[in-house]
Amino acid sequence: MKCKDPIGRYIENSIGELHELLAALVRIPAPSHHEEARAAFCKSWLEAQGATGVYLDEANNCVYPINCEGRDDLVVFAAHTDTVFPDLEPFELKSDGKRFYAPGVGDDTACLAVLLMIAKFFLQSGRKPSCGILIVANACEEGLGNLKGVRQIMKDYAGRVRKFYTFDGTYDELVCKCVGSHRYEVECKTVGGHSFSAFGNPNAIAELAEVISKLYRVALPQKEGARTTYNVGMIEGGTSVNAIAQSAKMLYEYRSDNAECLSDMKAQFEEIIEQANRSGVAKFEVRTIGVRPCEGEVDPVVLREMIEDAVAVCEACSNIPCKQESGSTDCNVPMSLGIPSVCVGLYLGHGAHTREEFLEIDSLPVGMHICFQIMQKFFL
Ligand SMILES: [Zn+2]
Repeated sequence: MKCKDPIGRYIENSIGELHELLAALVRIPAPSHHEEARAAFCKSWLEAQGATGVYLDEANNCVYPINCEGRDDLVVFAAHTDTVFPDLEPFELKSDGKRFYAPGVGDDTACLAVLLMIAKFFLQSGRKPSCGILIVANACEEGLGNLKGVRQIMKDYAGRVRKFYTFDGTYDELVCKCVGSHRYEVECKTVGGHSFSAFGNPNAIAELAEVISKLYRVALPQKEGARTTYNVGMIEGGTSVNAIAQSAKMLYEYRSDNAECLSDMKAQFEEIIEQANRSGVAKFEVRTIGVRPCEGEVDPVVLREMIEDAVAVCEACSNIPCKQESGSTDCNVPMSLGIPSVCVGLYLGHGAHTREEFLEIDSLPVGMHICFQIMQKFFL
């Protein structure tokens, strides 16, 4: 082992503890909006390491402010506690000696466990931060969590955060461009009736299908370097094979990494729904179920520096290339507010958002080094 500096020794000696912490976190179910137990666990764990001032907020975040009193130069280090799985039964961490298997093991439980272990290192090393630091185990990053956890942090610390890091995903890529999205439930209601005797009455399924075809013929906004997509992800409706459907609904979203393209899609969507309602054949009701903002006015120089520095750290610690990607992460919220943000991965693995998810056990010490290198620049 070449690393005999304090962090090298710490990582070598604490791998077993990291594995236990990961297993303990995996065992605590944490679907989006139900992260209470994981948040409470993180709070007691941090307190057991000697942390003071740790609190749980109303969005189920566990927040550990260090040196923040009266300061407005805060840097946030976050990892999300929620997983995409609705299960309320504990998962067990399985191992074949090379890989750890469990739903959510990598995304984002491994990053959370690594962040906690590195927070412990700073706690015990006695190194003082050079600015205000917020360590956050945050809720509601996934799907319909709609970034509620980070929104709460940005509200509670409004105007005081100057940089934001979230640890999420694998260290062979860095998410540094925000993909914003709008998500809707669209419900169509109409007369319906008996399929034979009332034949000719409007059918909600057919009316909704008409709208879907229109949505699939929209002109995608063209802007250099931007990518825009759309999807109808679910439809349901009707009563039976011999009934003209009275109602039908769908889930629809569009995404873009460019704010103008996103509003262009919004305008086209609203026009199609308005047109459909004007026809008077059926009534369309739209419920917004998710809004993830795009990048706002972020200082390009500071952001560039953060990205280049994070890529350099990931590549130096892992000896593999780190690609720069667009994505939808907790960074969307601070970036929309003009706060430079990046999303850094702390493990290697595969199958995020599936029950077959696994991570490479050997990648965890590398993740600890990456997390330490990113954070240590903000300590004296
Ligand atoms: Zn994640």
